[in-house]
Amino acid sequence: MIREGSIRLPFTYAAGKSGSEFFHALQDRQCILGSRCSACKRVLAPARSFCPTCGDASLKAVELGSGGVLLAWTERPGKGVFGLIRLDSADTAIVHRILGGCDSLSSGVRVRARFAAARDENPQDSLLGFEPQEPTEPAIITSKDHS
Ligand SMILES: [Zn+2]
Repeated sequence: MIREGSIRLPFTYAAGKSGSEFFHALQDRQCILGSRCSACKRVLAPARSFCPTCGDASLKAVELGSGGVLLAWTERPGKGVFGLIRLDSADTAIVHRILGGCDSLSSGVRVRARFAAARDENPQDSLLGFEPQEPTEPAIITSKDHS
């Protein structure tokens, strides 16, 4: 017998130093914070305490800007559209809500972060999501130059 069900599992966790800096930057400055690895020069989004590529822990906080490219997306019925977004100055991608429907989405479309109009008590609600932009020129998805 197979029985279907679901489990709701609320939890609380310590965001850590880099996670706390990331959420404070979102909440206080409407800024998406990343980290630049001193060893391999990759720019990671969001901010991290160590580089997942080379393991180095000497990272420097960098502001990533609000524009990027949508790499992929999915729709969760009743929950909205979620996308994998690579911000322009980052080498890694983040997952976040895509505002609007998914009818006109395509890989490579430009997106821009939209922040809450007022400072929200919950820093996770400071970034509302990413809005697709009108295409002005085709976006080219490439790997970053690390020289
Ligand atoms: Zn690295």
